[in-house]
Amino acid sequence: MMGPPGSGKGTQGVQVATAHSVPHISSGAVLRAGAGPEVLSQMAAGELIDDETIAGLVWARLDEPDAAAGFVLDGFPRDVAQAGALDAFLQERGEALDAVVLLEAPREDLLQRMLARAEIEARPDDNPTTIARRLDVYETETEPLIARYAGQGVLRRVDGAGDPGEIAERLAGALNAGS
Ligand code: AMP
Repeated sequence: MMGPPGSGKGTQGVQVATAHSVPHISSGAVLRAGAGPEVLSQMAAGELIDDETIAGLVWARLDEPDAAAGFVLDGFPRDVAQAGALDAFLQERGEALDAVVLLEAPREDLLQRMLARAEIEARPDDNPTTIARRLDVYETETEPLIARYAGQGVLRRVDGAGDPGEIAERLAGALNAGS
């Protein structure tokens, strides 16, 4: 699952995972559950944490038995180095990504959703300053992956505007169309 912060990767990723009976693996959730204070403060500032730290956590999670038959990965990879590392990791296991879903939504929708989520989840990085930084980091670090996955023929662009039920339908359609 790829897309800017607030695009619905988590909400939609859980649904796709449930529909396909595979685990939803969110790098952000893995970090929020177990990272130390230094990493948590980097997250609270909207900065990416270093590639080796996050990759080590993600590989460990992908090695768990429930991910053997497939998984929905949400929030990883987030930069070119992570994408290269993921390709190598999967290649070594004789696997490949079936699809990379890119959820796209207008910046105004993203801001509204993150501010609404702040009220409910109280995530320390859902505040206006950090949100702006996270959107910038997405543009500079993560957006370059779009061309990479388009080149690999696995990219599925999904309109992420509107309500979650409509988005889920479009997403399921995009996955079926590509399979
Ligand atoms: P998310 O839950 O995906 O919005 O991620 C929340 C925060 O966790 C991000 O803003 C980063 O600080 C950190 N994070 C999550 N995934 C990664 C990743 N793949 N690489 C680096 N930092 C990450």
